[in-house]
Amino acid sequence: MRVAQLGSGTPEIAVVAGVHGDEPCGVRAVTRLLDERPPVERPVKLVVVNEAALERQVRFVDEDLNRAFPGDPDAETHEGRLAHELIEELEGCLTFSMHSTQSHAEPFAIVNELSETATELVPQLPVAAMVETSNFAEGRLFSEIETIEVECGLQGSETAAQNADRLTRAFLTAVGVLPGDTVSRDLPVYRLTDVIRKERADTYEVFVENFAEVEPGDPFAAADGDTQVAQEPFYPVLMSPNGYRNVFGYAAEKIDVLSPSPAAD
Ligand SMILES: [Zn+2]
Repeated sequence: MRVAQLGSGTPEIAVVAGVHGDEPCGVRAVTRLLDERPPVERPVKLVVVNEAALERQVRFVDEDLNRAFPGDPDAETHEGRLAHELIEELEGCLTFSMHSTQSHAEPFAIVNELSETATELVPQLPVAAMVETSNFAEGRLFSEIETIEVECGLQGSETAAQNADRLTRAFLTAVGVLPGDTVSRDLPVYRLTDVIRKERADTYEVFVENFAEVEPGDPFAAADGDTQVAQEPFYPVLMSPNGYRNVFGYAAEKIDVLSPSPAAD
């Protein structure tokens, strides 16, 4: 784990990259900040987490780090020990953690709950949606540390790396680390309601777009040609044929659209 800091004093803000080793976009954003060392108005901690997995370009070495929190210093797995180490490092920091997916090119944010912090900050980020995981947060970083996760785009793409850079700067501006103003926009908010499981098969297909409503009767996915049809309306989130081993992704409900409050002058 690589830990660095911009500015002096004890940071209350952290930017985290490389929780998953096959998602290099955030690492580039952090590296760039460390190269450029922009003047900061409050200190920020910068962390590149799973260096062993990044080196091998794999999601993890022993187990998924973002299901391993809170971890244990004596854990048998690399990620179990790393989870504990990261939590000690992030204690007291509002954390921004970058990921990328195989499911959706446009950036969106994932939060544990619709806290005041999330509701205030996320509309200032260049994201298309905010997803609240509520019941599906177990073992994730934000179950232990106040965290805004962002999905920056498609894994390994140049666009995801550029998005990671823009997202990091917007976050650091919104929390007053970097000087300047952010732009707020309308932000649809979704809550995960169900896991969409998949049976073991040779080929998987997904027929729907993430964040586009699926109507009852619509076919939405298939495993070896065996098609799943929607019983209830839902919004697909993080759905992809091969992104995860046991699930296609998640079903969500749309719960709100946050609008920027008019500027007071
Ligand atoms: Zn990830």
